[in-house]
Amino acid sequence: MGGSGVTLNGYLLHMAISDSEIAQVRGATDIVALISDYVALKKSGRRWTGLCPFHGEKTPSFSVNAEEGRYYCFGCRASGDQITFVREMQHLDFVDALRLLADRAGIELHEDLNAGPARKERQEFLAAMDQAVHWYHERLLNAPDARPAREYLKTRGINGEVARKFQLGWAPDDWDALSSSLNLSPKVLEGTGLGFVNKRDRRQDALRARVIFPIFDPSGKAVAVGGRILPSASETVRPDGRVEPKYKNSPETPIYSKRRTLYALNWAKDDIIKSGEIIVCEGYTDVIAFFGAGMPRAVATCGTALGEEHFQTMRNFAKRIVLAYDADQAGQSAAASVYQWEQKHEVDVAVARFPGRSDPAELAMSDPEALRAAVKDAVPFLQFRLNRVLEAANLTTAEGRARAADPAMRVLAEHPSELVRDQYVMQVADSLHLEPRVLRTKLTEILRHPLVREVPNEPSQVASSVRPERTQATPRPGLEALRLSLHAPRLVKDRFIAQYFVNDVQREIFEGLTSGKSVSDVVDELERRGDDQAARLLSQIVVDEVDRDYTPEDVTAVVSQLLRSAVVEELKNVERELRSARLSPEVANATIRDVKERVALLETADGDSAERDLRDWLLGRTPSDAQ
Ligand SMILES: [Zn+2]
Repeated sequence: MGGSGVTLNGYLLHMAISDSEIAQVRGATDIVALISDYVALKKSGRRWTGLCPFHGEKTPSFSVNAEEGRYYCFGCRASGDQITFVREMQHLDFVDALRLLADRAGIELHEDLNAGPARKERQEFLAAMDQAVHWYHERLLNAPDARPAREYLKTRGINGEVARKFQLGWAPDDWDALSSSLNLSPKVLEGTGLGFVNKRDRRQDALRARVIFPIFDPSGKAVAVGGRILPSASETVRPDGRVEPKYKNSPETPIYSKRRTLYALNWAKDDIIKSGEIIVCEGYTDVIAFFGAGMPRAVATCGTALGEEHFQTMRNFAKRIVLAYDADQAGQSAAASVYQWEQKHEVDVAVARFPGRSDPAELAMSDPEALRAAVKDAVPFLQFRLNRVLEAANLTTAEGRARAADPAMRVLAEHPSELVRDQYVMQVADSLHLEPRVLRTKLTEILRHPLVREVPNEPSQVASSVRPERTQATPRPGLEALRLSLHAPRLVKDRFIAQYFVNDVQREIFEGLTSGKSVSDVVDELERRGDDQAARLLSQIVVDEVDRDYTPEDVTAVVSQLLRSAVVEELKNVERELRSARLSPEVANATIRDVKERVALLETADGDSAERDLRDWLLGRTPSDAQ
């Protein structure tokens, strides 16, 4: 990015953005809402937990502290604040992440404008896309020329209410109605894909005479549009002799990536999280049909095949992915890739089959119950592939059954897991009236023959490279004290002092916390100083589970433990000083005796005064213990 930043410890210090602006952006960004755009979070006590978006996992080890605006993953140790989260998820640098959040919160940064031309442009494109979506929508609802579109939508079960929910629109049959109505510049037209400048040097709309399906990012910002021609126009032949495609989508633009975007995820998120299931359709109207049939957890890829990046997005929301495709379409999915992604992203892919040759949209209207059943009865992807082989075979004769063995084993051979393969061998043996042994031999032959394997199945790198972190060896009372300071500050008030912390890392954290700064500011400062261990420890304990309300007794217990270890540590210093003759033996011995008595006292009756005494003693000794 711009040359005015200085990288220090991986941190981009941008001269034009002040610390107070950074703090303002953090303060205005609800971290739970932000992270919920990407993964499901559940309230658990005082913190929020969910599946880590940074590594594949089945049990949640990702924790968020809403008040402090911090997250931490106990699995892969990813940690940070609102800004780090956006940086990592969207692969942005510090400044761009900050801009994005500022924008989200409606804060204007007083920054050097040259620093972010790309981002300024993005904003401009997003604003234009938003305007266009409203314009198209308005046309659909009100314009007389949109009547055929409204009628077509009604035949697909889409009434005004549904059209409003999905912000559907109408692009009139005109060259430049949108471009000229909104006065979009050539740069904006190209940058959004909404239009272009034609050979006669005139602005031209990309979509005309089409029903518009706006496409939003997970947070609900319009990033692209898809347009469908009306069935009556399906025979239209263009002047150049080509037939108009049924669907036409925005091209890739600075605000739109087809490989990442899932249509309707912005509306489907909640139900996907609630149900643990995501339904992937082929088209926009299928998605809308699922919503209408009471399954508002459907999404669609936008003019591209389901790919790994879609899986990366989906696995953060649900573990069961149901393909609601036309059977032929589903059969053509690259099986090896699907199994690989299943394994890598720890999801299960199932395929729903619809009675007859109906598609979800038709079924939703004629028999919504059957649509629900199809999703419920969706079978694993391998089972689906196998069924298709067996359905195509003639199983009534011995010859037919024997012939089916080869294609059936070839389908099984694509699956990377021997355990899974073998269970299906039993099933196939049963259907084909063959000995499992014979099928296993055949399967082994096929597996040995490399031809059948489209893609080598790599073992999951993600799963094996992540090991739960062992909490570092760090004195426990100190750790407890830090937890109390963070999670029960009112209870703690001034009970702890820096001198209680014998561990340097803990003391630095404590000093940071008592400086009145936010946790994120303290983490930043520790990172800037190269104190990564302290930064990480603080990142972790700020999201620690606090499973009960702390009591004053907890504080007292921790104080006495801390004092003990601090005093014991200090006594070592006294002995050292004694040896280097900086203290007279009488004074040293008296001091040691004195302190030991008070330590004993602390454990018995008069805790309060012993605490006060020892604290004063420690405070009094502080200046001399610099080594
Ligand atoms: Zn993680």
